[in-house]
Amino acid sequence: MNDTLVVSIRERYQRVLGQIAEAGLRSGRGAARLVVVTKSQPLEVVRAAVEAGISLLGENYAEEAVTKITALGQIAVEWHMIGHVQSRKAEVVAAHFSMLHSLDSLKLAARLDRFCAETGRTLPALIEVNVSGEESKFGFPAWDETAWPDLASTLAGLEQFPRLRVQGLMTMPPYFEDAERTRPYFSRMRRLQEYLAGRLPHFGWAELSMGTSADFIAAVEEGATFVRVGQAILGPRPPKSEKV
Ligand SMILES: *Cc1c(COP(=O)(O)O)cnc(C)c1O
Repeated sequence: MNDTLVVSIRERYQRVLGQIAEAGLRSGRGAARLVVVTKSQPLEVVRAAVEAGISLLGENYAEEAVTKITALGQIAVEWHMIGHVQSRKAEVVAAHFSMLHSLDSLKLAARLDRFCAETGRTLPALIEVNVSGEESKFGFPAWDETAWPDLASTLAGLEQFPRLRVQGLMTMPPYFEDAERTRPYFSRMRRLQEYLAGRLPHFGWAELSMGTSADFIAAVEEGATFVRVGQAILGPRPPKSEKV
């Protein structure tokens, strides 16, 4: 084990935890859970993160995650899927993850529901929404607030899938150097959460997954209950070719 790496990850992890706690107190919005994002990081870094005391990890790519989950073996860490899931990866996700942050289509919901039924489990899930209109982003369209009634009708279709337990919303807003420019998207998420809770009260809406290394403090101030932070804790991601 690379001790220097463990020490530096632990320091950055503690610093981010402190910043989350302060932001929660300052804004009065309370605590948020920290998902440490390991996408594209080699196994050595994932092991060091676990050694540093991190127990909630997030991955974007199903196959890459399974390699890491298998390599860690019996070590007790919780894995959340935070990236776009292709329908053909639904089985892997249903089998290996304790929460899905990126439910972005009814088609994916149908497949996940089927695999969960086969294995007798339920999968907590957050609905990914696109609150900016950026074309590169996944998620149900939610940037036009006048179209929220249509969004609510679409999401009502999730009622057919009892193995998925809807618990709230997730988003990946545009990147800005200045996190203040992201804040309006976070507050739109909170309004959408309130709106959907009124329209679809039989689902859970308590969770808001938003904020990365660039803007997690603003996200917590605006009501995030999960933040997803990678680089600020684990350091820069290696170029793709060096991926696990
Ligand atoms: C990569 C990623 C993150 C973390 O980004 P960092 O810049 O490493 O903090 C969070 N959420 C999603 C969906 C991601 O793909």
